[in-house]
Amino acid sequence: MSDCIFCKIQLGQIPAKKIAESELAFAIADISPQAPVHALVIPKKHVASLNEMGAEDRETILPDLFALADRIATEKGIRAQGYRTVINNQLDAGQTVFHLHLHVLGGAKLKGGFGA
Ligand code: 5GP
Ligand code: ZN
Repeated sequence: MSDCIFCKIQLGQIPAKKIAESELAFAIADISPQAPVHALVIPKKHVASLNEMGAEDRETILPDLFALADRIATEKGIRAQGYRTVINNQLDAGQTVFHLHLHVLGGAKLKGGFGA
């Protein structure tokens, strides 16, 4: 999608620190990290949010995102100690970039606080 930050990053039109890649996804370091490790795992296909996922994407892309998150956690040495995965879906959840992405946060004891 031409006006999407993450599509532009994928195409190399906006710089970002690439961390890892799989068949269906790539991962970058978040520009404003909320933890010592804060990766964004992003499907290569432009899907705006969870709400726009079709059944097939749900069965292929979502497992790929979590598999890549597992690999990143291993490579960053945070897997055993633990990490948090978050997908913000739509405005009430705080989604600001409308290209689906999985946050992977770790490397420290994370604060709680999910609800309203
Ligand atoms: P959301 O709020 O949509 O769940 O998360 C969007 C995330 O993308 C935020 O954590 C924000 O810091 C990150 N972000 C926004 N623009 C850029 C960018 O240009 N590069 C990188 N690496 N991260 C970005
Ligand atoms: Zn996009």
